[in-house]
Amino acid sequence: MKLMAEFTEEEDRTFSSDQDLLVFGQRLRHLRRAAGLTLVELGDKVGRAPSQLSLLENGHREPKLSLLRSLAGALGSSVDELLSKKPPNRRAELEIAVEQAQLDPLYQRLDVPPLKIGKRVPTEALEHVLALYEELRRRETKQVATPEEARQANAELRSTMREHGNYFPEIEKAASDILDRVDYHGGPLSEGVIQSIATHLGYGLRFVHDLPRSVRSVTDLRNNRIFLRRESLGMHSPRTILLQTLGHLTLGHRQPRDFADFLRQRVEANYFAAAVLVPERAAVSYLRQAKADRDLAVEDLRDVFSVSYEMAAHRFTNLATEYLDLRCHFVRNDETGIIYKAYENDGLVFPSDATGAIEGQRMCRYWAGRQVFSSSDRYSTHYQYTDKPGATHWCVAHVDPSRGKDFAITLGVPYTESRWFRGRDTTNHHRSGCPNGECCQRPPAELANRWQGMVWPSARAHSHVLSALPSDTFPGVDEADVYAFLDSHQG
Ligand SMILES: [Zn+2]
Repeated sequence: MKLMAEFTEEEDRTFSSDQDLLVFGQRLRHLRRAAGLTLVELGDKVGRAPSQLSLLENGHREPKLSLLRSLAGALGSSVDELLSKKPPNRRAELEIAVEQAQLDPLYQRLDVPPLKIGKRVPTEALEHVLALYEELRRRETKQVATPEEARQANAELRSTMREHGNYFPEIEKAASDILDRVDYHGGPLSEGVIQSIATHLGYGLRFVHDLPRSVRSVTDLRNNRIFLRRESLGMHSPRTILLQTLGHLTLGHRQPRDFADFLRQRVEANYFAAAVLVPERAAVSYLRQAKADRDLAVEDLRDVFSVSYEMAAHRFTNLATEYLDLRCHFVRNDETGIIYKAYENDGLVFPSDATGAIEGQRMCRYWAGRQVFSSSDRYSTHYQYTDKPGATHWCVAHVDPSRGKDFAITLGVPYTESRWFRGRDTTNHHRSGCPNGECCQRPPAELANRWQGMVWPSARAHSHVLSALPSDTFPGVDEADVYAFLDSHQG
């Protein structure tokens, strides 16, 4: 772009960058207009063609010092004035900034036709383009957690949860304090009670249709207003989303420092929402009675407090160790066995990668969370005992039919604790050798001999955020399944 040689020699360069040339061009145009001269008139005065001056004004050429002197003379200005690094006004500054922005590869990736910045482009439009570009830059350079950081943060958080038996008294207190203030007297929380929680915390609610797709809610901290959708978002009902938002506000969360901080805040906000919807006092007395009756059941907790099965199972893990003297585990997995969420303090060994991360790993096909998918009715409650290396667990798994995608939620306890639970009389019994590869992660030797090297499976992409794909030969593909499938389709 810069055709310097025509105008000046390398050694007496006045301009060190394109940016300088652009500023110079702006200043030249500004001073020319201020002097009331056209390009032709100024050209006449300095003995140059208007087209040459135009190249200068657009920052495409660099002037020799002799030309600079004549220009300064013709404009009643000085060379210093012409060469000042400061754009002559905001408009000029904007034009330069937007011109520069368009040279950024980040901007060019947008693949939009170049914006020609003529006189008719309003200053407001330039302000907008520049603001959007600066935000684009900010997001690009913002620190993004690597998958390794994400997995490590997850593993650390899980170990903290295990140490505390997944019970966090400060959050329980925050939830019970607010429930006291709105006169909650047990049972499921009505819409009205939840709204008055928001009111008590000083927030107004606005239900809107045009909430940005990437968010669950938006809180206007200046005017204390929370914007929400009316309809559910994936796994989350509007009341859960509202309570999670109120959780962030009540627990005094600040902008997360890093990914670990972000994750911790999200877990705490979810905990708060669950602690409000399934209040500690009411839930504990209900669960204690059920335990005394040897009739503990996640679905009862779900029904008594009108929450999702997942929230009921997860809430059970909050209260089980602290109040019922039970150790337990919780898993959420999809139909292919990929784990999305997991917790244990009962010694269950989850599959994990080298960093200790569980999310994204494929769990044993003989565990309840996978067996429920192969039972005759996947939406009925599935109970089973599973012998694992070192221990036997009793588990209840359930696939919530009201969700968009099928996930199994499993709650499990060590064998001896099954006596407190409904479903302990099940005859379902499985044996699992995992994480030993001969159990189910590796195809049986005979099958492998027949098919190894003779198959090219194409993996379905997993869309979840945090997890790495399981490290099979073909990432994300369950080879044992593929081989068995091929075998069954022979002859
Ligand atoms: Zn297995």
